[in-house]
Amino acid sequence: MSKKLKLDVISTSRSLRSGKSLATLSEKTSPYFADEKTSKTIKTGAKKRLPIKIEYDATEDGINVENTDATSAIETQSQNVKESSALKTVKTEECEMKVESIEESTDSKNIKDEKRWMPPNWETILENVKEMRKHKTAPVDDMGCHKCADPNASPSVSRYQSLIALMLSSQTKDQVTHAAMQRLNTYGCKPDIIAATPDDVLGKLIYPVGFWKRKVEYIKKTSVILLDKYDGDIPKTIKELCELPGVGPKMGHICMQIAWGEVSGIGVDTHVHRICNRLEWMKKPTKTPEETRNELEDWLPKSLWSKINYLLVGFGQEICLPRFPKCDECLNKNICPYASKNSGKKKKS
Ligand code: SF4
Repeated sequence: MSKKLKLDVISTSRSLRSGKSLATLSEKTSPYFADEKTSKTIKTGAKKRLPIKIEYDATEDGINVENTDATSAIETQSQNVKESSALKTVKTEECEMKVESIEESTDSKNIKDEKRWMPPNWETILENVKEMRKHKTAPVDDMGCHKCADPNASPSVSRYQSLIALMLSSQTKDQVTHAAMQRLNTYGCKPDIIAATPDDVLGKLIYPVGFWKRKVEYIKKTSVILLDKYDGDIPKTIKELCELPGVGPKMGHICMQIAWGEVSGIGVDTHVHRICNRLEWMKKPTKTPEETRNELEDWLPKSLWSKINYLLVGFGQEICLPRFPKCDECLNKNICPYASKNSGKKKKS
């Protein structure tokens, strides 16, 4: 999509009676410099000039030049900056979101051009999910694994704590995982300390996370491997992460993102798996999260891979619940295949 700034009227330089060049004052007479215009009225006696009108040729994206700094808009025009870098100068939160949607739609368009299968209405559905998630009120927003590391920890310790949080989070609510991580961090959540901690002490620290006894074993084995093979840090590849005891692809991909800031794949947990099947985002129903991940990665634009887990997990915690989804409150109720198939069925009271 091409974005161009146009100067509708570019006046040629004219001489004023005062002898000043009007061109040098053109910025002062522009309506985009209204404040300066009122404070410095110039009486030229010359015929009133048409103001320079800056038109942003991207109305479908809703980019509003008035939200940007006028100076930067003019600079953008004069430098003929490319679309992406120009848009990234936009500072307001609203516009940053629009930049994101531009990148996403461009990305999706590229894939459409390749005639890949894509589920109907997926973009509308996702926009609706974003709208329903905009207040960030789900447990994952405050207590997800990305919020479990000690903010004062060193980078390598922070990565270790994120990995441990992910290991604890399997089959466990975010609130329970977060509370266990608070206890662990206070105790000393570093690989050497955890490796030397007796099993019963570690068990008490992480209880009542799901499968806590098995997780004690995994965490201790993992801590020893990290000390022996990775100098106390965590590995930097998805392959090596998944070789650690108790770490699967879902944890591995999310860990790559949280700990290393790299998108290696989509983290598909039980929420993402369930919701994608309800929305029929795969060509046919899938039985396991791994199947869902493979199918999703076939068509979902890569720019959305890092966001989809976070969006759908919170959506699954608040609206598209495992049992009795709140379809009546959902913005997708008219386009969701699951809702249309189950519209006659009433929740048991
Ligand atoms: S309409 Fe119901 S099943 Fe469909 S996405 Fe919304 S809450 Fe989930």
